[in-house]
Amino acid sequence: MAVWVLRYGHRRMRDARASTHVALTARALGAGGIIFEGDEDEGLMGRLRKIADEWGGKFEVRHTKDWQAEVERFKKRGGCFVHLTMYGLPLQENIGPIRAAKKDCLVLVGSQKVPAEAYHLADFNIAVGSQPHSEIAALAVFLDRYFEGRELERAFEGARRKIRPMKIGKDVFLCSDEGQV
Ligand code: SAM
Repeated sequence: MAVWVLRYGHRRMRDARASTHVALTARALGAGGIIFEGDEDEGLMGRLRKIADEWGGKFEVRHTKDWQAEVERFKKRGGCFVHLTMYGLPLQENIGPIRAAKKDCLVLVGSQKVPAEAYHLADFNIAVGSQPHSEIAALAVFLDRYFEGRELERAFEGARRKIRPMKIGKDVFLCSDEGQV
């Protein structure tokens, strides 16, 4: 089952760093892509595509002008729409049913205030703890619970760059070097 992220309300100046981190977290922790709503930030999307191209795996990045139509289309195709909000129901009690539905998921995380329609359209309004924190943290915990930790073992096919894990130090190698060590 694929998970996609919908980043609601991106503001080019204010959210550049947080939105980048939402997208990098989505990619690193198993999502298949991200859809940005708000400012159409070609620079940000270009940088993310470049990272995905270099570090491998399939990760799509695009913008939508109409998040609601996007969600309605996704639901019509049989997908499950999850809204991460501190006001929602506890993640730990609802991740089982979300996973068991065996549907593709579209996960909305906000930047600016999320409109009431999102709460009504959501199949699940989910809280990662009933405290205010961060969209990046909420998304990371959601994805890890959804994939039950298996996302950390995922291979990123076609990577041009890889890290050789080390106890101390940094080792990044180009994949054309693989097999020569
Ligand atoms: N002030 C914004 C509002 O009124 O919606 C919330 C800002 S918050 C930093 C941005 C996003 O982080 C929220 O839209 C939500 O997706 C996510 N978030 C923050 N705390 C959360 C929590 N405890 N559980 C789930 N998501 C959370």
